[in-house]
Amino acid sequence: MNIKDTQGIGMTSMRTRERMIGRLIEQGISNQQVLTAIRNVPRHLFMEDGFAHRAYEDNSIHIGHGQTISQPYIVAKMTELLVDQRHLGNVLEIGTGCGYQTAVLAQLVDNVFTVERIRPLQKKAKDLLWGLNIRNISYLHSDGGWGWEEKAPFDAILVTAAPPEIPKKLLEQLAVGGIMLIPIGRDPRDQVLQRVIRTKSGYDIESLATVSFVPFLSGKG
Ligand code: SAH
Repeated sequence: MNIKDTQGIGMTSMRTRERMIGRLIEQGISNQQVLTAIRNVPRHLFMEDGFAHRAYEDNSIHIGHGQTISQPYIVAKMTELLVDQRHLGNVLEIGTGCGYQTAVLAQLVDNVFTVERIRPLQKKAKDLLWGLNIRNISYLHSDGGWGWEEKAPFDAILVTAAPPEIPKKLLEQLAVGGIMLIPIGRDPRDQVLQRVIRTKSGYDIESLATVSFVPFLSGKG
């Protein structure tokens, strides 16, 4: 995929992006395809005005409407865990937000189906990703708790907002052999990233790490 960096990127920004990659490697990210995908995405374009200069810091940053873009390490780690050396066809993402994670994922899988409940965020992400020439993404304005029935089953599901428990519809829409990563827990100081693998007879669920995501809210925003 050839990402079109329409607004251009100065050498300073290229260097800070390279530094971010170096930090991710130090933090233990080792999948070369994931690192390349991250290197390709101009993260500063996903920031709100005034925040672009902080784009390559290892922090979560506000993207408006009370939401945040995840810190680079979390995006990298979630992507690495999801891809895990396997080929993924159709992937469902819940919580498009500014579309940064979507852009990274879209380079590594066949198709991304992404759901966002806040319309203006969805529109902004869609315009930006289209402008970057990333075309293997479909968008839905909906409550992600319903998943995306017509496009199911999915080889992988990535959820970037935390519900109190795993939505039943998402479990149903996971293909046998498929993987879901989902943060669980209402309190942002007390959430656990869970990995769900669907087997022929049920689901294997494992807690991987403590994390901090915005809450998963029901209904359209
Ligand atoms: N992956 C995003 C992270 C955004 S924060 C990024 O890279 O920017 C989480 C997002 O999930 C927010 O945009 C929020 O509006 C959205 N969200 C929360 N609950 C949701 C729900 N029930 N359905 C769909 N999106 C939801």
